[in-house]
Amino acid sequence: MPKLELLEKYAKLIVEVGANVQKNQLVGINTSTETKDLARLIAKAAYNAGAKRVIVQWNDDYVSRYGYESMEIEELVKVPQWRIDKFKYFVEEGGCAISITSPIPGLNAGIDPYKMQQAGIASSKALKFYRDHMMGNHTQWTVIAAPNTVWAEKVFPKLKGEDAVEALWDAILQASRVTESNDPIEEWADHNTSMLAHNKVLNDYNFKSLHFKNSLGTDLVVELVKNHVWAGGGEDSSKGVYFNPNIPTEENFTMPYKYGVNGKVVASKPLLYQGNLIEDFWIEFKDGKVVNYDAAKQKETLKSLIELDEGSCYLGEVALISYDSPINNSNILFLNTLFDENASCHLALGRAYPMNVLGGVKMSEKELLDAGSNLSMAHSDFMFGSIDMNIEGLMQDGTKVTIFKDGNFVI
Ligand code: ZN
Ligand code: ZN
Repeated sequence: MPKLELLEKYAKLIVEVGANVQKNQLVGINTSTETKDLARLIAKAAYNAGAKRVIVQWNDDYVSRYGYESMEIEELVKVPQWRIDKFKYFVEEGGCAISITSPIPGLNAGIDPYKMQQAGIASSKALKFYRDHMMGNHTQWTVIAAPNTVWAEKVFPKLKGEDAVEALWDAILQASRVTESNDPIEEWADHNTSMLAHNKVLNDYNFKSLHFKNSLGTDLVVELVKNHVWAGGGEDSSKGVYFNPNIPTEENFTMPYKYGVNGKVVASKPLLYQGNLIEDFWIEFKDGKVVNYDAAKQKETLKSLIELDEGSCYLGEVALISYDSPINNSNILFLNTLFDENASCHLALGRAYPMNVLGGVKMSEKELLDAGSNLSMAHSDFMFGSIDMNIEGLMQDGTKVTIFKDGNFVI
């Protein structure tokens, strides 16, 4: 473990900059039992910031695995009313949410992906109101990470136990801009300012479409919705509270037009989905829809994602990140989307963020669909950026603008 003061700095950053906990606000912390020490520090920091109550939801991925192994599908798909009520209470009380991710890669190896998919669909349906509330930014939420031993040893295969955990802590804190000598809260204010400036440049161009091309075989045109909004860095909740949904974050992202994606994308990093690592995969789109795909490993898992529901075979996000970014330069493959997505241009299969279209957070589902937005229970980012990625933007008047040359922003 890093020094206590460093972890306290991290916890304060999460509470004050990530969720921006307000006086007398309810705070929910969603955590694995693997990361209980950090969860405690965050709870303490939340009370220091004036939280009226902190509720911790403890999850244990091993217990979940035993459930997938032993339970019949009929039992797995039941979502008890008390679980739904808990989320309802949280929404009604105006709570903000802090999620600590700490994936255990490979833990669900051998589990039937169909079983996990069905369980996922059942709880997604029952908790749709909660997902809409969060993705619509009706409260503040933030996702951060903390290591566990299995994950750390996967990221640093030459290190064992505590040494691996220590190395992963260093990498996470570095990526999150928390160091012994700095004031991370000040540093994040500067970072947010520069992210906002980039959003403005992209919004001013008001591109019709983006054309991605590299030597891995990606040749993809992504049309953007009319009145799309580039976001990235901090955001305002619908109640006007500024928060950072992800720590770290390096991405500028917006909304693809659901039916306007054509061509092939080749992933440049593996994707961890439901505890399984999908490797060396590509996807082909026609008029927005996935029409073909393959993966060297875990094709079945990719299939269960793509076939999850009607929207999971369409895109909901396109994000631009320079190859020369701090996380990518660390040369660490984190095997966790929170980090890997911030090291590389990415797309998301599934639901779009309403805020990525003008007025979107106030739109009904029908209005969002009419605006060309994708709806789905899924939202899974996958990475396809590379050192030789070129991106050309097509403006509304037909002018072509080079956005990326050899992996990096040039506008
Ligand atoms: Zn993203
Ligand atoms: Zn995403």
